[in-house]
Amino acid sequence: MRMDTKYLTIEDADLRKAAEIIRAGGLVAFPTETVYGLGGDAMSAQSSVKIYKAKGRPSDNPLIVHIAKVGDVLRVAESFPDNARKLADAIWPGPMTMVLPKRAEVPDETTGGLSTVALRCPANEVARRLIEYAGTPLAAPSANISGRPSPTRWEHVRSDLDGKIDAIIIGEPCIGGIESTVIDMTLPDSPQILRPGLITPARISEVLGIACGYDPALAEEADAQTAPKSPGTKYRHYTPRAEMMLYRGDSSKVREAILEDARALRAQGKRVGTIIYEDGREAAQNLFKDLRQMDEDGVDIILASALDNSEEINYSVMNRMLKAAGYVVKEA
Ligand code: AMP
Ligand code: MG
Repeated sequence: MRMDTKYLTIEDADLRKAAEIIRAGGLVAFPTETVYGLGGDAMSAQSSVKIYKAKGRPSDNPLIVHIAKVGDVLRVAESFPDNARKLADAIWPGPMTMVLPKRAEVPDETTGGLSTVALRCPANEVARRLIEYAGTPLAAPSANISGRPSPTRWEHVRSDLDGKIDAIIIGEPCIGGIESTVIDMTLPDSPQILRPGLITPARISEVLGIACGYDPALAEEADAQTAPKSPGTKYRHYTPRAEMMLYRGDSSKVREAILEDARALRAQGKRVGTIIYEDGREAAQNLFKDLRQMDEDGVDIILASALDNSEEINYSVMNRMLKAAGYVVKEA
């Protein structure tokens, strides 16, 4: 059934309307500093079921629950261990999600049947105002059709979910551009990074004073074999319609190889898109937007330069690029 999706501004009166929709069991897409989220009442099983339906998301892939302030953690989590509190105090509001034991009131539909819950307090001020006005934590995965690149602009949400959700908030483009870092804190003395993001392992180690490792090579191998540590990681993700191939190696050789292969493919009549980022932050901000743009342009094949491991943020972006490329990597 198609519905009439409302388009709302970030003005207070509109955010209060959005909050009302959520309280009445509806779904509203809203901006965060990572990507746009599709929010519903996290404490309502029906709202979570609606989220899965609208996205076409497998229902065992748990949702992240968003709160407006650190003081709300215990509304959702059964316990708030010291180390989790230290991370929250240092990094929230911000692009970090912590997995903690869940309270019984949080429906299984929200957590994909898990006894744990993923929690985040977003930095985006519009997001926090919306959660506050709703008066309930918001379950919010990325506001895209499952498997498509995550939305970093409201127009991306419109193109995936118009007619399928109650409202879309017209906010700014997302400044981060990739999803939050997910950290398992259920064993508070050995934090595990389940999904890399803009909050790096070094930052987490610094705050906690204990080692928090993340080996991108190991993670890549595990992901490529689809052995999920975090349930959501086993699904097809970030996929452009076009075929995509990554080139790894010395940067000038990579550039040469991409240009040469692009020429050859164009000669065969293929539409070729190329992606070469200089910097990890720029890459994070632009990757999903660029993948979507290439789909709109009818590109058949995307040739992209891999980022090196010189910065921790680079492998957070590479994690998404590898998934988008289905782990097809060519050594240049
Ligand atoms: P998304 O909402 O699309 O950003 O994806 C949320 C991701 O957070 C999921 O795919 C999981 O990888 C992770 N996640 C959410 N809840 C849990 C949980 N209880 N335990 C482990 N990982 C989780
Ligand atoms: Mg997602």
